[in-house]
Amino acid sequence: MNSWFVRDENDARYYAEHIENRLPESVFDAHVHLNLPEHVEKVSAQTVAGDWALQCGMSMSYEEAVAYHEALFPDVAMKMLALPLPLAEADMPANNAYLAGLVGENKVTALMGIRPEWDAESVEKQLLEGEFAGFKPYPYMAASEKGAEVSIFDFLPHHHLKLADRYGKTVLLHLPRKGRLADDDNIREIREIIQKYPGLRLVIAHFGRSFNVVYLREGLRKLGTDKSALYFDTAAVMNPAVHQEGLQQLRTDQILFGTDMPILLWHGKRKWTETEYFNLCREDFPWNRHPYPEDEKNYTFFLYEQVRAMLDALEQSGASRQEIAGVFFKNACRVYQTAGMKTPGNPCRV
Ligand SMILES: [Zn+2]
Repeated sequence: MNSWFVRDENDARYYAEHIENRLPESVFDAHVHLNLPEHVEKVSAQTVAGDWALQCGMSMSYEEAVAYHEALFPDVAMKMLALPLPLAEADMPANNAYLAGLVGENKVTALMGIRPEWDAESVEKQLLEGEFAGFKPYPYMAASEKGAEVSIFDFLPHHHLKLADRYGKTVLLHLPRKGRLADDDNIREIREIIQKYPGLRLVIAHFGRSFNVVYLREGLRKLGTDKSALYFDTAAVMNPAVHQEGLQQLRTDQILFGTDMPILLWHGKRKWTETEYFNLCREDFPWNRHPYPEDEKNYTFFLYEQVRAMLDALEQSGASRQEIAGVFFKNACRVYQTAGMKTPGNPCRV
């Protein structure tokens, strides 16, 4: 575990007041990156320097993830969807093999990392042999900067989509482009995927990178009735207004809880303008300028702020106990676990 990770009294108090007894007994974290240090040893210092998220954590084993889950959510049985660390310089085949091993041991449900240049035959073989629930494509495979103006099909080619469609798998899509979910080209390409490939399930990560409500509101408006065919995960979304908007515009069974560990294990908050967010953080990362040092002792975990914002929004929206259990557990079982199993049975066997 990271040497800086600590759960202090303030965190325990916050958890007891705002989270404990409000979560279902079992929680499915549907967005966890798992990899070993050797999978990322070729990632350059330049790449890390250009991305604040990588500076927070570059590797996390299954055992470390379990330890973080137990420390953060001590009274909850956690299950997880494991994703590789999707970097162009990472050793993707080795990372995939690591995840497939964990699936074989019934420890996780996992998505396979894909590179656009991989041919259909080799992807199909890995997908089926590894019992992966689907694919985790990533824009970094087509462009090195965040929010790059690339097409979804540049990093998620049609020959990969055809496989997901044929085998009824799930694709967890991190959107490219500066306009995020509201970008007209993203909307057009999402529509193309759901129309051409009705056999796959499409989950849009981070509410479509909607860390500000304007992107989600505008994106869902543009999608119109097509939004009903999609799923969204809440990874890294702390903004209460985004959760409220999602619950107003989507069915609860379209929303899946996720944390994006190991990126967000620090203490902090966010502040927002209309279109941007700023991380406020206690821990000393290279990107952290400590703008409000006197406030930092009062920060709790980013993940606690996120979970509280979700619980508050769910309760305010009038969601039932069952719907809350759906968002935090059952929806992910339905969307991912059934797609990852050779013998469908109890979808939450892990
Ligand atoms: Zn992620």
